[in-house]
Amino acid sequence: MRRCLLCGQKFAAQLSLRELFLLSKKPEQVICFHCRSKFVQLKSSRCQICSKELDSGQICSDCEAWKRKYTGNLLRNYAVFKYNDAFHELMVNYKRYGDYILRKVLQELCWQELGKHRADFYVPIPTAPEHIQQRQFDTISAIFADLVPLTTVLGKKSGVKAQGEKTRKERLLSKQSFFVLENTNINFNFKKVLLLDDIYTTGRTLYHARNALLTAFPQAKIASFSICR
Ligand SMILES: [Zn+2]
Ligand SMILES: [Zn+2]
Repeated sequence: MRRCLLCGQKFAAQLSLRELFLLSKKPEQVICFHCRSKFVQLKSSRCQICSKELDSGQICSDCEAWKRKYTGNLLRNYAVFKYNDAFHELMVNYKRYGDYILRKVLQELCWQELGKHRADFYVPIPTAPEHIQQRQFDTISAIFADLVPLTTVLGKKSGVKAQGEKTRKERLLSKQSFFVLENTNINFNFKKVLLLDDIYTTGRTLYHARNALLTAFPQAKIASFSICR
């Protein structure tokens, strides 16, 4: 028996044979069935570009706006969960209070879906240096490093307010703060790159990351993966 990382109740871990054949590494089970049920997967009627739930149509209004802004050069984003109250609470404890152990909950929630998206390179969205210092770890890399091999190619300028502290309007107006690290010796042109992030809110962060990489490697084939949408 184990203790659930979220509620502290004892539970028995389950094992499925099918899971053993997935690409990404299966993390240990750290939350109970009851806590798990609070995280709701996105339903199947979704935006074909960013995975946002849609009642009708093929593309959401966010993606329509990106389409106009980037003359059709959209970023395909795969997401798994709805950003509901349970997720909000989890992310606040993980990011704001820097509870490192909670990366395991996020790993348990996303590893299976992540395993379905094969790429040549998995690139984590970088955290600003001052935020890493505050928490003593990089929140995005900490989630994904145990699941897939990470390639660190993007850096983030310091002194930039975190997206989570902004209003939607401020988020959309935020300036490019990502850059390709100088010591990068990999050629990403014609390679499949999957950008990794925790939450896709407006898409601003992931589009900036995509653009930074595309400026240096115009032929890179870039998509993204976020745990929530
Ligand atoms: Zn629990
Ligand atoms: Zn969309």
